[in-house]
Amino acid sequence: MKACNTSIQHTQEQEYKPGISLIEASRYIRAPPENIIKLNANENLFVPQEFMLSIAKEAIEEVDYRLYPNGLVDEVCEKLANYLKVDKDNILLGCGSDQLIDLLMLTFGRSGVTTIHPTFTYYYYRCKLHGIPYRYTVFNRDLTVNTHELSRILEKSSMFILCNPNNPLGHVVSENIIREIAETFKGIVVLDEAYAEFSTIQLHKLPLELNNVIIVRTFSKSFAAASIRLGYIVGPAEVINTIRKFQQPYPVSGFSLKFASLLLDRIEYFRRVWNEVKRVRDWFYKELKKYSKLHVFPSQANFVSFGCNIECERVSSELLKRGYIVRVFSNILGFKCLVRVTLAPISILKGFIKALTEVVN
Ligand code: PMP
Repeated sequence: MKACNTSIQHTQEQEYKPGISLIEASRYIRAPPENIIKLNANENLFVPQEFMLSIAKEAIEEVDYRLYPNGLVDEVCEKLANYLKVDKDNILLGCGSDQLIDLLMLTFGRSGVTTIHPTFTYYYYRCKLHGIPYRYTVFNRDLTVNTHELSRILEKSSMFILCNPNNPLGHVVSENIIREIAETFKGIVVLDEAYAEFSTIQLHKLPLELNNVIIVRTFSKSFAAASIRLGYIVGPAEVINTIRKFQQPYPVSGFSLKFASLLLDRIEYFRRVWNEVKRVRDWFYKELKKYSKLHVFPSQANFVSFGCNIECERVSSELLKRGYIVRVFSNILGFKCLVRVTLAPISILKGFIKALTEVVN
């Protein structure tokens, strides 16, 4: 409890102390049924709910609910521009990055969207829904890109989307390869950087150099604010103007905008959170590597995934019995089951490791 109160009162100045106990931490993770710890959706469990509540209370008072939120859009764009060191005209806000990805598909992807598997499954489902041709190549076994095969498929598509860091594996494609793709492709390259703040590679400045590159980001992961549904695009100003024409006039609520604006005032606090996530990730990766039956993927995101040869249903139901929800994917890269585990404070993951030992052995 103490650690949380500390974060509320001293957001920027004070040392970040993530060491909350299992019981304390689980109180911040509300998932039906109660007392089940949610490690399945890559939400950010390192920021205490009390901290977010204090931001919400501040935001409530500062919005004029009678007005459309034009001024607040400008306020958030300016703060984002400052954080990312780009221009305000390079930014477009939307209701979650899901909505923005949809918008990009409808604006640029109508004659086809290409991606590399495994990837965020949402791309496939939205293309299917909109009747957009969906094409993909598969990462090589060592998770490098088969550029030859990719360029062959790209010829038929108007949009390429890459989730970088990758969801569900957590690896990254290098800047050089992305540049090479963008420089030769005639369509739009969308980099979904939902997990960028946890990674060593952040390419949000690439659109300033290459006019066919667009970055999609979200407040759901790095800023621990999945509930406010705020995502944004960084792109060349003229591309942003084109996308804006396809978007509704007021896609984000005044409350969410003010909330985001207050989060951006606490960027130093969040930098400490991101460092803590990386520290825990190293520890968790090493712990998982101790199991000879698991193939653990190095990750640049706020989750770690491993492949195993146990049925997915068994893995998820046995872990659930012990109080943990994880995300499982069947038949990926030759594994019966790929298990993706969202990182959480070490106290929580120690409990998870104990449960996993029982399941794996
Ligand atoms: N992109 C990726 C790669 C994701 O994993 C997610 C969420 N799981 C999203 C986009 C969507 O994020 P949101 O709509 O919450 O901004």
